[in-house]
Amino acid sequence: MSNLTFAFTEAPAPGVRIEIVPGIDWVRLPLPFALDHVNCWYLHDDNSNCLVDSGLHTPASLECWDNIIKGTGWPQKLLVTHFHPDHSGLAGWFASQGTRVLSSEVEWGIVKRLNAISTSDYQQFYSQWYTQHGVSQEYIDAVNVAGNSYTASTVSPPDQCEYLTAGTNIELGGRSFEIMCGQGHSPDMLMLYCETDKLLIAADQVLPSITPNISLTPNSDDPNPLNSFLVCLHSLTALPEETLVLPSHGLPFTGLHQRIAFLIEHHRLRLKEIEQALVKEQTAAELFSVLFRRKLDHQQLSFALGETLAHLSYLENQSLVQRTERDSVTYFSAIN
Ligand SMILES: [Zn+2]
Repeated sequence: MSNLTFAFTEAPAPGVRIEIVPGIDWVRLPLPFALDHVNCWYLHDDNSNCLVDSGLHTPASLECWDNIIKGTGWPQKLLVTHFHPDHSGLAGWFASQGTRVLSSEVEWGIVKRLNAISTSDYQQFYSQWYTQHGVSQEYIDAVNVAGNSYTASTVSPPDQCEYLTAGTNIELGGRSFEIMCGQGHSPDMLMLYCETDKLLIAADQVLPSITPNISLTPNSDDPNPLNSFLVCLHSLTALPEETLVLPSHGLPFTGLHQRIAFLIEHHRLRLKEIEQALVKEQTAAELFSVLFRRKLDHQQLSFALGETLAHLSYLENQSLVQRTERDSVTYFSAIN
């Protein structure tokens, strides 16, 4: 991480655009939780423009966009990289003003599915999932109080969405991009690579200062997301090391290959730690002390459980770990 190069050491203030290269501006929106912020990108020339990601539906995001739109007008297009609410949350708001929404068919399907879940189904889902993996009642009670956090932070999505497919090219804001598919953090996350400028809009696939959350939940489209994440990272090493990476969290950086090597090593070590801890049979919740080493708040808990299960699924697929069920609780142990 220390050898990455940051061309911009200061992020834009809320409601302000910073030019990364001519025709690509950086906008940063605040987030009301530990992740702190999300980066969005405004691609433009004299004739066309497209926003990449919308931010979460909060008063602070709306205030930022009001300031930006005073200068740019409403964007013609909004490209939603993936379903997470800090990326997709305001798609419905932009669409209500005539902005065309673009995304992947898989990611948009999840946006619609999560928006349609009733509060009681949402609470039942978490209650069953947490109970199965040994999570304490305190966290189950918290979900029952909080309700569906996805719909709480998103505007209802529009019916219309134009689907983009990895491996094809698209012209956005006067620039040609190859559409690439990120995997592991979400199943079909859109990334944009501009070969002429050697520039990658990476969404949450490669972040400079944190490791993207890789989660397996009972709803996941991908049964082994950690494997998909690692395979995708390997494929990105085909891009030049001098690629300027525009991540959704943190600062734009160069040093793609180094960062990929760090992320792969990080997960290799985590897998080793879990395998070693499982000489003694444990639930996923009991493994949190190995992976996280701190008291988790309610929101972090669901990420932590998903992340732990993603590692366990990877180890099961390598025939290194096995699971058994007793009294509706799942226990994991290493295979010697
Ligand atoms: Zn995400």
